[in-house]
This record gives sequence, structure tokens and C-alpha cells, in this order.
Amino acid sequence: MKGFEYLEVELNDMKEQGVFRSLVPLQSPQGGRIIIDGKELIQLSSNNYLGLTNHPRLVEAAKQAVEAYGVGTGSVRTIAGTMEMHEELERKLANFKQTEATLVFQSGFTANVGVLSALLDEQDVVISDELNHASIIDGIRLTKAARRIYRHSDLKDLEKALQETQHYRKRLVVTDGVFSMDGDVARLPEIVELCENYDALVMVDDAHASGVFGENGRGTVDHFHLHGRVHIQVGTLSKAIGVLGGYIASAQVVREYLIHRGRPFLFSTSHPPAVVAANLAAIDVLLTEPEWIERLWENTRFFKAGLKDLGFDIGTSESPITPVLLGDEAMTMRFSDRLLANGVFAQGIAYPTVAKGKARIRAIVSAVHSKADLSEALAIFAKVGKEEKVI
Ligand SMILES: *Cc1c(COP(=O)(O)O)cnc(C)c1O
Repeated sequence: MKGFEYLEVELNDMKEQGVFRSLVPLQSPQGGRIIIDGKELIQLSSNNYLGLTNHPRLVEAAKQAVEAYGVGTGSVRTIAGTMEMHEELERKLANFKQTEATLVFQSGFTANVGVLSALLDEQDVVISDELNHASIIDGIRLTKAARRIYRHSDLKDLEKALQETQHYRKRLVVTDGVFSMDGDVARLPEIVELCENYDALVMVDDAHASGVFGENGRGTVDHFHLHGRVHIQVGTLSKAIGVLGGYIASAQVVREYLIHRGRPFLFSTSHPPAVVAANLAAIDVLLTEPEWIERLWENTRFFKAGLKDLGFDIGTSESPITPVLLGDEAMTMRFSDRLLANGVFAQGIAYPTVAKGKARIRAIVSAVHSKADLSEALAIFAKVGKEEKVI
């Protein structure tokens, strides 16, 4: 079809730079080992931290919900698409997060966009860490509030922004709890203290901390014992929780406001019964099977120590997200291809997802990897690292 030549030009540029990527379809369930192109690989690219994507309790709950309630809801939440189980999940999440209320959105992405676009207007300002997730950036693009970006985890720069914005009605400081590309954790205790001093609201996006940090995976607010001092927590149900969805955990008044003004909530159909039921079962698993989180952290320590011993630069991550920093874009993509050819699926990440010259392999272990899986993966990293003269 004619008309898209201008897009072809851009795609051809990407191809020349070696950063054009095709989608890689799995032929197996998500898990510690997966099948791509008929070949078994060690999976180090998913956010399925706890292996819950096919946990038997979640699968069974989803099956029963399909049998009892069918496959879809046929409406947005605010018209006819709220089933009792949607509200049950929200009550359960509020109890889990120890907040007054929660509201579930279709995804973490839409939760961020919904809350940021709704809560502020021209009289307000949002103050955002420069490395916040794309969905926070898009949410900020949709708000009428003024914007300020502070340097990554730089409290001096954040304080400067707070000093210079005192004339606004409301200031909302927003940060990722765990930064998705480097795996570092927000300096939340200091951020909260600063915001209290300057009377600003705090919002933390715990997408990569949900199910990973805090008691039973309650997130960074729990990890840092900051209950009651963070105004808005965003969680995802799509990563460690293993299913799909996002939610805000906050005050009851915020829930009620978002039911009226949160645009993705208002104008996009609610989760099908199987998704809701699996999410409900996942929270039960977090509460009753803490061994998954223990195994995740044990595997994380083992794999990171192994990469470090081999001489790789793995940055400053404090979470299971393990960047193997390589720098050069094209080499990183070649590195990822060679890992794949040798039996490891670990995606290369390059500009624009990370800054130019900061390309890396991003590896995430999960609770369902065995030590043998991880030792094998380390041996393959060593082989490719030597071939590419990185180590
Ligand atoms: C993945 C991610 C999201 C989006 O969550 P989904 O449920 O996958 O839409 C939002 N914020 C951060 C920080 C993320 O890493």
C-alpha cells in the first residue's frame, strides 16, 4: 500500500544501525525455559518474577471463572461491566496494600495514564524523575498541569523543583519504585520526607516492586515502612502477579474521583472474569506461598554474583532486574542474538528505551529457574562475552 514511504525511511535507518527488531513468538507457556522456533531456551527476558503465569491455583481459578461467568464482560466498568468479583479484587488489594481503597485499571500503563491525566489541572504541577516509565511520561503529557523533570534520584534537584513551585495549588512528585531499566530502587524515605517538608503529594509506581519487594510482595512502601505517607501507589498485576492489570492504591476519595474522571477506566471495557479470578488467586498465593519470593531473591543473588565473577559490568541494580552493560547499540543486539543462538533468551535494550551509548542486555531471573538453568545461562554469557571481547 502506498503512503507510508516516510515510515519505511525511518525503519531502514534502524536496520542500518542494527537496532531493528522483529517480534519473537513463544511456542510454549511463559516460564523458566521456553520454546522459540522449535528450540528450548532459558528465559531471562520476562517480568514473570515468581512464575505465576502458569501457577496451578491461578489457572484453576481462571478456568472456573470462565465456566461460571463466560469470557467477557461486555461493558465498561461504569455502565454494566462491573461484576462482584471486580470489587472483591479491589477490596482484597486494598487489604493487601493496607490502603483505604484501590481501583483496578486494564493495565499498569492505563492506571498511570488514568491517574495522572485526572488528578491535576492548570493550577497544579507534576514533578517527575527523568527515568520514569513511559506510561508516567504519557500520563504527564495528558495532564493540564505544569511539568518539572528532576535528575534521576537526585534529591537536591528534586528539592530545587519543590522550592521553585510553591505557588501552585498542588504539587505531585512521581517516581518509579524500582526503575525498570537499571533496577535501582527509588530513594523513597528521603523523597517522602522532602515532600512532607514542602507539602507535596507523593506517587510511586511499583510495577517492578509488586510481588517482589516488601512483606509478601506488598511493594516499596511496605519495604521502607512508609505506610500512610505515600499518597498514591500504582501496582501492576501483569508482572510478578503473572496475569494482567494495574491498580491505584490510595484514599477512598481518590477511588471515587477516578471512577468519575479516570478516562481509561471510564471508556475501555473491564477485565474478563478469567483475568479477575486469576488475579484474586495470585494475591492468595502471595499471602500463603512466600517461598516464591524467597526463591526469586536467592536466584537473583546467585546469578548476579556469577555475572560479576565473570567480569561483566552489571551496574547498580538492587532488584532482580540485571542490566549487563555493553554500551554499543549494534554490538548489544549482536550479543543478544548470539545468546539466543546458544540457548539463552535475553533481550538487548537500546536507544530510545535507554540513553544512546548505554545499550545493555537486560536479564531477569525468576523463582522458577533452577540452579542448573542459571549455571548454564552463566556459561553461555561467558562464551559470548569472550567472543565479543567484553570480558
Ligand atoms: C511495566 C510497567 C508499567 C506498565 O504495566 P503494565 O501492567 O504492563 O501495563 C508501568 N510502570 C512501570 C514502571 C513499568 O515497569
